[in-house]
Amino acid sequence: MSRNVALGVFALLALGVAAFLVFGRRGSSGADFATRVMINGACLACKKDVSAEFKSLDIAPYPCPHCRQSAVFPKFFCVSCKRVFVPVPDRSSGTPRIPQSPRCTACKSTYTQGYYPGLEIQQPKGEAPLPPWP
Ligand SMILES: [Zn+2]
Ligand SMILES: [Zn+2]
Repeated sequence: MSRNVALGVFALLALGVAAFLVFGRRGSSGADFATRVMINGACLACKKDVSAEFKSLDIAPYPCPHCRQSAVFPKFFCVSCKRVFVPVPDRSSGTPRIPQSPRCTACKSTYTQGYYPGLEIQQPKGEAPLPPWP
């Protein structure tokens, strides 16, 4: 009898811990997670690849973890020539931004899309050289 009670208490405790793990985490870091995005890009200033999390509300260029300059742009995939590239930033607003329709720096095609490493339909045949900076 007392053994059953002990088991019951244990089961309740286990449930409580499980609930804490599920709801506690969602409450604390869940909101954080929703506002962060993984960027697979490159820094045009120091030419290093950058894979890091940034706030999803921020727009490129992102601050570079290597050289601290705001020169990290996401990489794109060219469907035409299958190269991964960083488009030449649009400077018409005074601040370098990702162009409305990113143009492949290798073949000049605008048939491009965001680059997601490991995505099966994107099999890169190489990387185009990074555009000059600044
Ligand atoms: Zn850098
Ligand atoms: Zn191309």
